[in-house]
Order: sequence, then C-alpha cells, then structure tokens
Amino acid sequence: MSADTIRMQLSELDTLCRQVLSRHGFSLAHIDAITTTLMRGQVDDCASHGVYRLLGLIGTLQAGKASPDAEPVIKDQAPAVLRVDAGGAFAPLAFSRGLPRLIEKANHCGIAAMAINHCVHFSALWVEIEAITSAGLVGLACNPAHAWVAPAGGTVPLFGTNPFAFGWPRPGAHPYVFDFATSAIARGDIELHRRSGEPIPQGWAVDAAGNPTTDAIEALNGAMLTFGGHKGSALATMIELIAGPLIGDLTSAESMDWDQGAGGLPYHGELIIALDPERFLGSETAQYLQRAEKLFESIVNQGARLPSQRRFEARHRTAREGVDIPSQLLTDIRALLN
Ligand code: NDP
Repeated sequence: MSADTIRMQLSELDTLCRQVLSRHGFSLAHIDAITTTLMRGQVDDCASHGVYRLLGLIGTLQAGKASPDAEPVIKDQAPAVLRVDAGGAFAPLAFSRGLPRLIEKANHCGIAAMAINHCVHFSALWVEIEAITSAGLVGLACNPAHAWVAPAGGTVPLFGTNPFAFGWPRPGAHPYVFDFATSAIARGDIELHRRSGEPIPQGWAVDAAGNPTTDAIEALNGAMLTFGGHKGSALATMIELIAGPLIGDLTSAESMDWDQGAGGLPYHGELIIALDPERFLGSETAQYLQRAEKLFESIVNQGARLPSQRRFEARHRTAREGVDIPSQLLTDIRALLN
C-alpha cells in the first residue's frame, strides 16, 4: 500500500458505492447491479473499471444522459435472438435481467445472441462473460463507445475503444477469458494517467494536430490509436457494425453526436453471443473440453500466462486483504454524497 492510497475492506467500499448511488436516486435494482459490477472491477484489480467509474456514472446522470431507474424491457426477437431495451439506463441491470433467457436460448438452439439496446455501458466486459461461462457456455461480447479512436492511417476520432471479450468454461477451474479494448489501451487508463500527472507510453494516441503524444491531456483531446494497426482497426469496424447497425443501435460517432458535448459516458448497444458446447458435441462434450485443457496446459507449460490470470490472483488477494484506493479518488467519491 503506498502513502497516497487507503486500504478498505470490500464490505466498506460496497456500502460506500450503494450510498452514493442511493443519494443520486438510483432504484434498488440498479444500485445492486451497478455496485456488483463496480466491485468486481475493483476486486480484480481493474482500476479503470472499478469504483473510479462512479465519477463518470454520476456525471452522466447529472448531465441528463442516463436514467437512474428505467426497468429493462425484454423482447423475444427470434428463436435464438433476444433484445433487451435498457431504456437509457446503465447496462448491468439489462444484462442480468436478460441473461437467464440468453442461457435458455443457447441451451435450446446451441447458439444465441442477446442485443442490449439504449444503454450506457461503462464496465469491463469480462464481468458479463464470466456470468456466461458460469452457465457452462462459451461467450463473446462487444460494444462501441464514443468516437475517440482514429482508424489506422487516419488521425481523426471515429471508432470507440470498442472492447471485445471471449470466455471458455473450464470445469473445476477459472474460465479462459480475454477482454480487451481494440484501442491501444482503455480510455479510463489514459484518464488515470491524467489524474496522476504521469506521461502515457508512445503509441497510445496522437494530439489534436495528429502528432504522436505522451501527454495524457493532449491524448484525450486528440485521438487514441487502435492496437495492432490495421488489424485492430478492422476489428473496431466489425464491432461498430455488429453491435451498432446490426442491432439497431448507435455507432460510436453517433453516440458522440447524441452526447452533444455533455461529457456523458457512451450511449449505445451491446451484442452478446453464447454457445452451448453440449448442443455442438452431445455425449462427447467432456472429451472435447478435456482437449481444450491440453491447449491451456501447452500455453502455460512454456512459461506464458493465460489472460485473466492476473485478475484471478488479484481476486484471491483482495478477498483476504481488501483493496487500496487512491486517497484523492476516495475524497472525490465521498464528495458525491454531499
Ligand atoms: P489489457 O490490455 O489490460 O488486457 C487485455 C487482456 O489481455 C486481458 O484479458 C488481460 O488479462 C490479458 N493480458 C494482459 N497481459 C497479458 C499477458 N502478458 N499474457 C496473457 N494475457 C495477458 O486490457 P485493455 O486495456 O485493452 O482493456 C481493459 C478493460 O477495459 C477491458 O475489461 C474492457 O472490457 C474494458 N473496456 C470497456 C469499454 C466499455 O465500453 N464498456 C470500452 C473499452 C474498454 P489480465 O486482466 O489478467 O491482465
């Protein structure tokens, strides 16, 4: 623990989140869903998607760009397609309300998709992916954001940070999960560098004139870059398409237009796909899942680590020790109670 962080027990931080959300008029169902999501981020040492997000959530609410209490509306769109209209509220409640139906559809059809519409999505996608792998399903999820990221070869913000996540259930072990922004880094990480006054690495962003920058403020005012050049750029485009027009929702550029400079978090949709191994493999499921285990073994046996391993280790540690929160962040969060 460093001098400018404060160690908090998980229950203490959970209570603070609930108090802040309650103070700002969130319904109990949203308080539960949002707090659970924020705490998952903090506990797994994903600071950019932990309680820090409370600042953005309340800012978005106060800018009139989110509902604190809209009830999600579920629509059975097709045998393997489900839509959940979040009604302009934050995404976690819409996800948790739609999940049981997504699982049912995937169990029945072998593959099913859930489109969440009209939501403010602020969280790490692995939270949702792990809910799918817990049901024994393979999961994929993606969503646009605000237009912050330039396409490879350009310098003007167009794509969102467009995260993409995948999960594979592993009997008796943590699931295999990867979850990354298609930008070089999540925007929250640049914001955390701005807050701490630290420079950002080369390759994350260009300034407003299109020149490479290591200054977090210039990066936030310029354009972020995709990871992997043209490859990340193509993936970001795919996500704009399948989690935008395909599900009848906004692209990142349209989300930015909708915000009209209010500074709210992105407002758009999300596409979540679930696959049921048992419907693909029947009585051979266990045998094939075992072959997947051999693949994971072959990765770690050569000294590489599996994605999410860092998070799972953090989860075990913080359950024992609590979490360290930057004192300035805690001050800012407590100020939201006034
Ligand atoms: P990172 O680059 O930090 O990590 C990406 C993935 O790679 C993680 O699963 C991570 O696992 C894994 N990983 C990292 N290093 C290694 C390694 N050496 N070997 C194997 N695997 C590794 O993520 P990003 O900064 O791109 O994204 C952070 C989060 O931001 C994501 O959770 C994403 O969902 C979220 N996000 C959400 C948005 C939204 O609109 N809701 C927008 C953009 C991002 P581990 O965690 O264990 O290190």
